[in-house]
Amino acid sequence: MPFAFPLALEVTGRRCVVVGGGSVAEAKVEALLDASAAVVVIAEDPAPGLAELARRGEIELVERGYRHGDLAGALLVFATGDRSVNAAVFAEAEAGGVLCNAHQDTTHCHFASPTVTRRGDLMVAVSTGGRAPTLSAHVRDALAAGLPDEFGALIDLVAEIRQEGIAPPDTAERARLWRRALDFDVLGLLRTGQWEAARRLLRAVLTEDASAAPPPAADPDPPPVEGGWVSIVGAGPGDPGLITVRGRAALDAADVVVHDRLVHPDLLAGRVAVDVGKEPGRHPVPQEGINALLVSLARQGKRVVRLKGGDPYLFGRGAEETEALAAAGIGHEVITAPTSALAALAAAGIPATDRRCASSIAVVTGHRADGQVVDWDRIAAATDTLVVLMGLARLDEIADRLVAAGRPGATPTAVVSRGTLPDQRVVAAPLVHIAEAVAAAGLPGPALLVVGEVVRLSDRVAGLSEKSQPSEPRP
Ligand code: SAH
Repeated sequence: MPFAFPLALEVTGRRCVVVGGGSVAEAKVEALLDASAAVVVIAEDPAPGLAELARRGEIELVERGYRHGDLAGALLVFATGDRSVNAAVFAEAEAGGVLCNAHQDTTHCHFASPTVTRRGDLMVAVSTGGRAPTLSAHVRDALAAGLPDEFGALIDLVAEIRQEGIAPPDTAERARLWRRALDFDVLGLLRTGQWEAARRLLRAVLTEDASAAPPPAADPDPPPVEGGWVSIVGAGPGDPGLITVRGRAALDAADVVVHDRLVHPDLLAGRVAVDVGKEPGRHPVPQEGINALLVSLARQGKRVVRLKGGDPYLFGRGAEETEALAAAGIGHEVITAPTSALAALAAAGIPATDRRCASSIAVVTGHRADGQVVDWDRIAAATDTLVVLMGLARLDEIADRLVAAGRPGATPTAVVSRGTLPDQRVVAAPLVHIAEAVAAAGLPGPALLVVGEVVRLSDRVAGLSEKSQPSEPRP
């Protein structure tokens, strides 16, 4: 099949016909009205919503079945009835040069109707040419999740600045400067209501005038406003159902949520959210910047939730944030949540302790960015169950160190990837083989390593543990 030609059609005031009066027709009518088309509906038995639109004069409603000639003067027609009607509509459209779309009937279509998501004037349209509509919707939802609400505001701002004509006349140079300008976190500024700073930033980059650039984050130390409050909230290990009731209440009361990358998107839906987390290819906001942002938002009188993966105080740098808030005299609280260190084990069917084989557990980090080293010699023998966070990239080294420190190479171990999430995976193997087994399975992060006899107790992984095989992803 040849590719379809994409276009975003201007239909203001143009006659667009919808044949049929059910829910599909209603959806088409709504979309056409959004685009200011002159809508004509031909339906023997129109849905009440369509009759109401006709009563209000927003559409023209012809209450009878389709007849040849109904497409006269039309630009588009949507046929939503049965195939024989679609065929007749299509034949007239074909003869009259009208573009036809028949619902779920690709043989009677000149065009597919993409599924869309909008942010102001930004429209992202997804189409599989009518061949896999649910897949289109799925892709649209995935794209929509990555498009912050502030895109609409960003487009307004860009349009405003383009009007000013400050960018250089040379097209290539102008495009280069716009790209550079949009590389900055203009969205982040808009998200936190800093329109003037966003405007100054764009102007500065477009005119390459560094002196006009705004401070990178919030304005320094605006006068404190009453009501500012920061709740440092644990988001739980992954599954959005594992946040606490208090954490959820704090989110519902928040004016703005400052969050890490690992938090589940469902917890952010419909909220004003600032992402300060690490993403591949994007620089994270440094810890001092996060502290400053929290202080600055609270000083504007906002109720802020700082949402962090798992429990905020377990390898979460939560303490540094509470210290900064305390130093700035800002009211704050910490709301705990299940840590992945325990929840991912539970979700994999691995008990943290068991009176038959494990009476102690230690949680350690496999990654010390600050140059300090983990004392594997001391840890290896000191605990029955050992849970290693942030160790996925260094599994082989960690396993070697533990064996060198006296932990038997045959000790059962497992890696739990994306614990508590629908795509959780577990790979089990003896300690000496775990790195290899995990590499073969290609497990994605976040993931943790658990070492100890308790791994044997999990039905899910016990049968696999000697074979170094990945387990199936959960259904
Ligand atoms: N404060 C967090 C941990 C932050 S460190 C907590 O209490 O859970 C981040 C590490 O946690 C990741 O590198 C990974 O080792 C682990 N982790 C976080 N979420 C996880 C999950 N859903 N499944 C497995 N491990 C996870």
